[in-house]
Amino acid sequence: AQKYVLTKYFQGEPKKSDFKIVEEDLPELKDGEILAQAEYLSVDPYMRAYMIGYKLPTDMIGGQVAKVIDSRNKNIPVGAYITGPFGWRTHTVTSGDKIFSSSIDLPITVLPDLRPYPVSLALGILGMPGNTAYFGLKEICQPKEGETIVITGAAGAVGSHVGQIGKILGCRVIGFAGTDEKCNYLEKELGFDRAFNYKTCNVRAALKDGAPNRVDCYFDNVGGEISSTIMSHMNKYGRIAVCGSISSYNDTAPPKVTIVQPALVFKELKMEGFLVNRWNDRWQEGIDMNLKWLKEGKIKYQEKVYHGFENMVDALLGILRGENTGKAVVKV
Ligand code: NDP
Repeated sequence: AQKYVLTKYFQGEPKKSDFKIVEEDLPELKDGEILAQAEYLSVDPYMRAYMIGYKLPTDMIGGQVAKVIDSRNKNIPVGAYITGPFGWRTHTVTSGDKIFSSSIDLPITVLPDLRPYPVSLALGILGMPGNTAYFGLKEICQPKEGETIVITGAAGAVGSHVGQIGKILGCRVIGFAGTDEKCNYLEKELGFDRAFNYKTCNVRAALKDGAPNRVDCYFDNVGGEISSTIMSHMNKYGRIAVCGSISSYNDTAPPKVTIVQPALVFKELKMEGFLVNRWNDRWQEGIDMNLKWLKEGKIKYQEKVYHGFENMVDALLGILRGENTGKAVVKV
């Protein structure tokens, strides 16, 4: 068995030399335990953002879909697929019922038969990013029919899903993403009303054009200057779900501060950060709803699949550089 250990704190973009792959001896299974072999590993932006809080060296954190290859747990048979926060490792021994202790505490779940969909969706729309979109939009933004939602990071795992839920709820949906191809996909395939390339457009002009009734809900995946501009284009009593700030994760210099308080005060906005594990006790509700919408054809997905355990760092770099449309996963 193998696992990744982080040996150096990231400086700017993660580097291969920040990690070490080490061999791991697996313990004998005790009663109640299972041995699971990783099939898909997740790469997520929080892996770049969170590791500063850990004492080094430390195992890399992350979710995976794994196949049970040995079992002394009568509820989890050999051949079952499970998902859990097992980190960047090829094999995991776990009792299958305890929640891993990490900053992202996510439940271990035995997956139902997802066919014809791939099991990797349990790391995407039928997993943590799907629930981030579902609960973040519904609970924090509380969009009403006819309102306008703006999403940054709109073509990624969370953003592409938020926009589609927004359309299901009867809202006008505007996305910002980093390539024309992604914007085309959002408009033509996912039904976004408008999508703009934030690297080439004038954001103010794009908002005037795309959101003529201004913005009621802002789902913020990126932070930074674009977020301040969007806030200044919001309606009174608008709601901002602060999901992430990927635009600054690789920064080495201190951030330039933009004063957002005037927009918050004069428009009486409500801005709230959240972590998806706030809804751990309603986890299954999100999964069930997203699966229902998927089966009804109301939600589409795309995956960017990297191949090989040895390419985990390239995959992580890929999402930080915007290589992915939809959810990025690594097939082990
Ligand atoms: P994505 O699938 O969206 O992948 C990251 C994307 O971010 C890239 O594809 C890239 O797309 C975009 N990006 C990279 N650099 C920048 C930049 N400088 N400015 C703007 N966009 C950039 O990742 P996720 O959907 O998994 O995550 C999206 C956000 O949600 C992240 O901020 C993440 O930390 C957060 N998150 C928060 C959770 C919570 O519980 N609060 C849970 C899960 C995710 P592009 O080509 O458009 O630039």
